[in-house]
Amino acid sequence: TLLCLEPGADYLLLLSMHHTVSDAWSMDVIQRELTLLYAAFTQGHLSPLPELALQYADIAAWQRQWLSGTILETQLAWWREQLAGVPELLTLPTDRPRPAVQSFRGASHAFTLPPELVQGLRQLSRSQGTTLFMTLLAAFQVLLMRHSGQADLVVGVPVAGRTRVEVEPLIGLFVNTLALRSQLADADGAPLSFHTLLAQVRQTVLEAQRHQDVPFEQVVEALQPSRNLSHSPLFQVMFNLLQASETPLQLPGVAIELWEADDAVAKFDLTLSVVEEREATIAALEYNTDLFDAATIVRMAGHFQTLLAGVVADPAQSVATLPMLTADEREQLLVTWNDTVAEYPQACIHELFEAQVARTPDAVALIFEDQQLSYAELNSRANQVAHQLQALGVGPEVLVGLCVERSLEMVVGLLGILKAGGAYVPLDPSYPEERLAFMLADAAVAVLLTQAHLRTTLPATDAQVICLDADWPMIATQPTTNPVSRVQPDHLAYVIYTSGSTGRPKGVMIAHYALAAHIVTVCRHYAITAQDRILQFAAFSFDAAQEQIFAALASGATLVLRSQTLWDGSEFARQVSHTGITIADLPPGYALQLVSAWQGARPTFLDQQVRLVLVGGEAVRPELVRQWQALAPKVTRLLNVYGPTETTITATVGDLSSYTIAAGAVNLPIGRPLAGRQAYLFDPCGQLVPIGVAGELFLGGEGVARGYLNRPELTAEKFIANPFGEGRLYRTGDLARWLPDGNLEYLGRIDQQVKLRGFRIELGEIESVLSSHPVVQEVAVVVRED
Ligand code: AMP
Ligand code: MG
Repeated sequence: TLLCLEPGADYLLLLSMHHTVSDAWSMDVIQRELTLLYAAFTQGHLSPLPELALQYADIAAWQRQWLSGTILETQLAWWREQLAGVPELLTLPTDRPRPAVQSFRGASHAFTLPPELVQGLRQLSRSQGTTLFMTLLAAFQVLLMRHSGQADLVVGVPVAGRTRVEVEPLIGLFVNTLALRSQLADADGAPLSFHTLLAQVRQTVLEAQRHQDVPFEQVVEALQPSRNLSHSPLFQVMFNLLQASETPLQLPGVAIELWEADDAVAKFDLTLSVVEEREATIAALEYNTDLFDAATIVRMAGHFQTLLAGVVADPAQSVATLPMLTADEREQLLVTWNDTVAEYPQACIHELFEAQVARTPDAVALIFEDQQLSYAELNSRANQVAHQLQALGVGPEVLVGLCVERSLEMVVGLLGILKAGGAYVPLDPSYPEERLAFMLADAAVAVLLTQAHLRTTLPATDAQVICLDADWPMIATQPTTNPVSRVQPDHLAYVIYTSGSTGRPKGVMIAHYALAAHIVTVCRHYAITAQDRILQFAAFSFDAAQEQIFAALASGATLVLRSQTLWDGSEFARQVSHTGITIADLPPGYALQLVSAWQGARPTFLDQQVRLVLVGGEAVRPELVRQWQALAPKVTRLLNVYGPTETTITATVGDLSSYTIAAGAVNLPIGRPLAGRQAYLFDPCGQLVPIGVAGELFLGGEGVARGYLNRPELTAEKFIANPFGEGRLYRTGDLARWLPDGNLEYLGRIDQQVKLRGFRIELGEIESVLSSHPVVQEVAVVVRED
């Protein structure tokens, strides 16, 4: 179509060719022939073009004949072997879940490769006996590996398919696609050096070219990959190196400017094309816009250029450690998103409580069913316990067991232990006897505080046992004044046991400074005031309980202990209005039950009174958030709180109240690091992963535990020196990625740790215990959700 924009002056020629009758080479032929014909016809001459010796149909007929029998079989056999067992999909991390049917909606991002960089790449190629094509392809594969975590990957490349001179002047579809497979790691999984990869790519490219005559469709047919409409078969990413046209369209008397149509199409998930023009080398990433945001592709382009520069600087480097992040992105990951410096009082947690007692002695500190204690009363009782414990020799670094049911005594007991200078070890009375016995022995608990009715069920112990109820007459003889202890912020506050993969639970040691810093942080973050009433929901042996208790007691708020029995939706609503709860931290499964129940009868406290609901401790399901948002609470915010015991309760917090969940999404953000904390994501080779790419979450800052009690090797394995600053980092075993807005998204575990009804369980612990039975030869434990 020729559009006239201004008669005699300005015209637009639209050329649209279907790919079944043309290809990039054909477009060149058209330009050349149009140039010649236009010049001839405007002069009144006949066509100067020679008759074609062959037509496309002749080639088609010839190909059918020739490409059969042994020729076809030998070629196909090579492809079969080459592509045997390829991964079905190159799982690049996407911004949105992959739709069930590929839409081919696309966009493109172009960037210029600096001439010195291209110069360097050419030199490198020469010295390695490769072409620029091979070197760029190898570097592109490194990019793909570092983003997907896959070392075995396939990239499609087009070949012109004009292997005979007779076909060169033809217009028609000759182009073919070669699926080039690379292994970026050796047989043992060790990443290759770039040199080695380059040699491999060279070999693969040359051999593939020797087998380029089989059309890609036939290779697909031969390999029979499982059919899937959501992605293209065998490869989803393409690479293409193009020379700029040698014969640009030139029409006498016409000034020509080429316009590329923006067709908003992406044939594959991702296509890198590099065009060598006379003045510059232009690269473009064409991407599927269902999967990727423009910003992701722009970052990827930056990674590619950083990788290329790294390759030129030192091609002997491992593909796993070649630098990839741009300086800006590094700064963002290390500094901007971890800019969490905060000031904390240098105090122990019970001192924060004592300060509060002095401020509001008569305020209600604690409510349990129909009982309550004021701050002054709670303090006096805890002081009496502390004096009693000090008389028994409890002081800094002495571990005191606390085995009680949820009750006023529970809080009195733990404050008493801290005030004596000791550290508490929560022991859940519902745990099996063997486990309690192990914890008592492992922690070498000197004194055990419990309740009379639990005494008989407790395992035998050398510890001095005191009942907070039955022995109260004795404790009550102690003074009610604040005791003096030598405890300092770096002494232990508590030891919480958690499942251990080798069969033994491990005690996580948390110091006072970590606990105090955390409590001060959450009080600020949740803006807790003396007007708040905080529900104490979690079992006391979960670290979440410590946050609930101390956040209330350090800020003059009231702690409302839930009763032993679990409340259903209407009972929960009744309790909330009865006790005036404003903040509740709930397990996600329980929260989902409540929220589902409320869909029919929407409780009024969502519009007044309850201002915060925290969920976490395990992965939160999008369903909960959807149902929550359907309730449209007016005042209540829903926060996702994340944190391992080893970094003191909560490390990151994210707001789910108005978070938009993409269709089909299974993962949710866990927010940003709290004040005083840092989060880093590393790949298995210890490199920082870029934004959007999955990595293991390492946590640093004030909250990092002292380590595991009596387990120096395990401590050394899980707590490493912080390569970016002071202190140590805890490797969580959690998989996460940075979202572009600075939130972390939780993706799952890299190991066999699971959460089952809130309990953190290493399946390896169960396996190793089971396999110690003489008749058990091998064992595998899995979690199944029915
Ligand atoms: P725990 O030490 O019992 O607090 O367990 C910590 C582990 O629970 C983390 O390493 C995660 O695997 C998981 N977890 C805790 N909170 C969340 C959350 N909000 N989202 C996803 N997983 C979580
Ligand atoms: Mg936790």
